[in-house]
Amino acid sequence: MNVNVNVAETREVTRIERIGAHSHIRGLGLDDTLDPRPVSQGLVGQTSARRAAGVVCEMVKEGKIAGRAVLIAGQPGTGKTAIAMGIAQALGVDTPFTAMAGSEIYSLEMSKTEALTQAFRKSIGVRIREETEIIEGEVVEVQIDRPATGTGAKIGKLTLKTTEMETVYDLGTKMIDSVIKEKVQAGDVITIDKATGKITKLGRSFTRARDYDATGAQTRFVQCPEGELQKKKEVTHTVTLHEIDVINSRTQGFLALFSGDTGEIKPEVRDQINAKVSEWREEGKAEIAPGVLFVDEVHMLDMECFSYLNRALEDDMAPIVVMATNRGITRIRGTNYTSPHGIPIDLLDRMIIIPTSPYQEKELMEILKIRCEEEDCEMGEDAMKVLTRIAVEASLRYAIQLISVANLVCKKRKGTSISVDDIKRVYSLFIDEARSCQFLSEYQNEFMFNEVAPVSKTED
Ligand code: ATP
Repeated sequence: MNVNVNVAETREVTRIERIGAHSHIRGLGLDDTLDPRPVSQGLVGQTSARRAAGVVCEMVKEGKIAGRAVLIAGQPGTGKTAIAMGIAQALGVDTPFTAMAGSEIYSLEMSKTEALTQAFRKSIGVRIREETEIIEGEVVEVQIDRPATGTGAKIGKLTLKTTEMETVYDLGTKMIDSVIKEKVQAGDVITIDKATGKITKLGRSFTRARDYDATGAQTRFVQCPEGELQKKKEVTHTVTLHEIDVINSRTQGFLALFSGDTGEIKPEVRDQINAKVSEWREEGKAEIAPGVLFVDEVHMLDMECFSYLNRALEDDMAPIVVMATNRGITRIRGTNYTSPHGIPIDLLDRMIIIPTSPYQEKELMEILKIRCEEEDCEMGEDAMKVLTRIAVEASLRYAIQLISVANLVCKKRKGTSISVDDIKRVYSLFIDEARSCQFLSEYQNEFMFNEVAPVSKTED
């Protein structure tokens, strides 16, 4: 039991860190004609990749690009994940976007294909249309009581008069909050949305205002409308196929949606849901909104997963799958064959590939400036130049990581702006990958279990 709890918590922490690295990205930074602005919405340079991503986004929004695969390929630190995050932001909240690393499918809780199936179904939205009634009328009486149990719970009733009748409504918590917020009182003309419980105040009624409102001059009076008082309105809710699966899976129950601990879902449940959704689609009650599944470090997938992807992409309810890799020609996991990006040729053949290219020094400086702002750090101009040099010589990621530690050093000496000395100090405290390799090649004999050094002493 405890083990499960820990697993869920660990997952959450990783998510938060992953969001942090790209939290400065607010979109793809394109104008109306999909032309990338040099620096916009947190993204810098990489213009052709951003334009390509923008085209993909447009097609997703128009629902035209379901079941395709896009590969973002380029050297480490060239913004592949950043662009994928930009796509997510540009699509908006109504389009499902799921991000995962290739290695996340290797879990003890479920099979690899189950993990992929769940990721696929999390990325497919079902827009369900529902009719709701909007009731408009004049408030006769509002009553909100706080029972003496000390629980803070509230009970409320609202009497509403329409031309046809007077009705007493029991108020739920949300409606009570809405009544308090809108300061609803007798004599007001309001609307109640029956589906959401939302109350909107239109103004005061002519008939009652005289009795209740001394400052009538400042109040907007409306005639309580005669005749047709109940209007029909259409609302749409977007849920993902995975959410419908979990809610209908008797073994899990909907609470699993909050813990993320959904385990495996039976194929029969999914078959039933697919059938139901197709029925809704035929009846015009629902439509499919294909979203985006982003798989980072896709070379971590193995042959079984690639063959699953080949088939799953052909399903008529497939999302668009965006993958990213920094590998060149490498071994396909689970085989002895090598292939470009470690991806089998038949899958590669059905992908559109977006390349990313290394940054110019000026672009690196822009990215570092944005990160400084994001992390709320002041940095002097000279220090910024030194940090940019470090990004060129070592790596962008290493330079980004130095920002917050340099800020700590700066604060410790009670400075307000990170100086060249602060950067030098953290550069000497924390080594980058190249210096780490150099260090190891010089001192490897003194480390345990190293495979390069002769093992004369430990053998007996
Ligand atoms: P890897 O191949 O190692 O996974 P990657 O290509 O996915 O690398 P990112 O993780 O996207 O690289 O980039 C490294 C860091 O630099 C991130 O914090 C990212 O947000 C930032 N970054 C990269 N490119 C840009 C850019 N064009 N504009 C703004 N920030 C960027």
